[in-house]
Amino acid sequence: MIFRQLFDSTSSTYTYLMASRHGGEALIIDPVLERVDRYVQLLRELDLRLVKAIDTHLHADHITGLEALSERTRCMTVMGEQSKAEVVSMRVSDGDRVEIEGLSLEAVYTPGHTDDSYSFIMPDRVFTGDTLLIRGTGRTDFQNGDPRAQYESLFGRLLKLPDETLVYPAHDYKGDTVSTIGEEKAFNPRLQVKSVEEYVDLMNHLNLPNPKMMDVAVPANMRIGMARDIAIKRGWTLTPEEAKAVVGAPGVALIDLREDQERRKDGIIPGSLHVPYPDVEQSLKADGLLHTLAKTAGKQLVFYCTFGQRSAMAVQAAQVEGLENTRHIQGGIRAWQHANGPLVR
Ligand code: FE
Repeated sequence: MIFRQLFDSTSSTYTYLMASRHGGEALIIDPVLERVDRYVQLLRELDLRLVKAIDTHLHADHITGLEALSERTRCMTVMGEQSKAEVVSMRVSDGDRVEIEGLSLEAVYTPGHTDDSYSFIMPDRVFTGDTLLIRGTGRTDFQNGDPRAQYESLFGRLLKLPDETLVYPAHDYKGDTVSTIGEEKAFNPRLQVKSVEEYVDLMNHLNLPNPKMMDVAVPANMRIGMARDIAIKRGWTLTPEEAKAVVGAPGVALIDLREDQERRKDGIIPGSLHVPYPDVEQSLKADGLLHTLAKTAGKQLVFYCTFGQRSAMAVQAAQVEGLENTRHIQGGIRAWQHANGPLVR
C-alpha cells in the first residue's frame, strides 16, 4: 500500500493519501485548500489517479481542499449524510464502505466533536478525524458538538477496536503522528474517566478560544460544489420533470454513475446503463463505450448520480471530449424521488 501522511502547519491538520499501487486509484482524507498544489504534484509523481476525497467532518479551522481537488482531478467528494456541506458527490452513513481499487474503508458514525463526524476503519488502522486525537479528544463546544455523543463514539465504538489498531487523527498540535487504540486507552488523559458524567463535565470546562479561522472556514466549507453551478449556467441540466419525458426515448442513453451500494439503497431508473463514476472519463474517450454511443449511435447521454454532483462533473468531462449532446439530471436520484420518477430495485 502507498500511504502518505501530509501536514498543514497553519492548522496542524494531517491529510492522508492512499492507494494500493502505483498507476492505480487513490483516495485522500481531510485535504486542506492551501495544500492542493502539493497533493496534485504528489499524485503526479506517484502516478496515481485521485478518485475520492473524503472529509471526516465539516472543519472549522481550515478551508477544505475537497472542491479544488474535485475541480482539478474530477474526483468524487465524500462526507457523512449528516453533513451540512451543500454539495458533496457521495454521502455515507454508518456501516457504508468507501472503496477504491484495492482498498476499502468502513465508515463509522462517531458524532460528538460535530454532529457530522465520521471515522474510517481499515483492517490495521483507523482515521479518527477529531473524535480521538493522540492523548486528546476533539472539542465539543460548537457545531452541534455533544460530549455525551462523543463519549459513546469513543467508548462504544472506537475503543472497542483491537488494541494494536493504529490511530491516525486529523490534527496534532504537539508533533505526534500516530498512536494505537491500546496506547490511547492507557495514556489518553481524557479517557481516564469513570463515567459519562465525568467526561461531560471535563469537556464542558475546557474554556477554549474559538479557532481563528472559524468564521471563514465554516461557511466556506458548507458551500462546496462548483461543478453543479457551472452545469446549470451552461444549460447542461435536465430537471427531473424534463428527464421523466426522455426516459425510454430511443435517442437517449441514461447513464447511472453510482456505486453498487447506492444503487441497492435507492433503486435504479428503468433502462439505465451502469458506468461507475471512476470509469466515466475513460469511457468518454474515443473507443470508449460512451463515446461510441454518443458519436456512432448518435444518442444523447443523460447522466445521473445521487445528488447531481458526479453527473455534473461527467457532463463537463463529456464536453471536453467534444460530446456536446450530453445532459445530467439536476439534483440526482434525490430530486428524482421527490418528483416521483419511476425506480426499479
Ligand atoms: Fe474539527
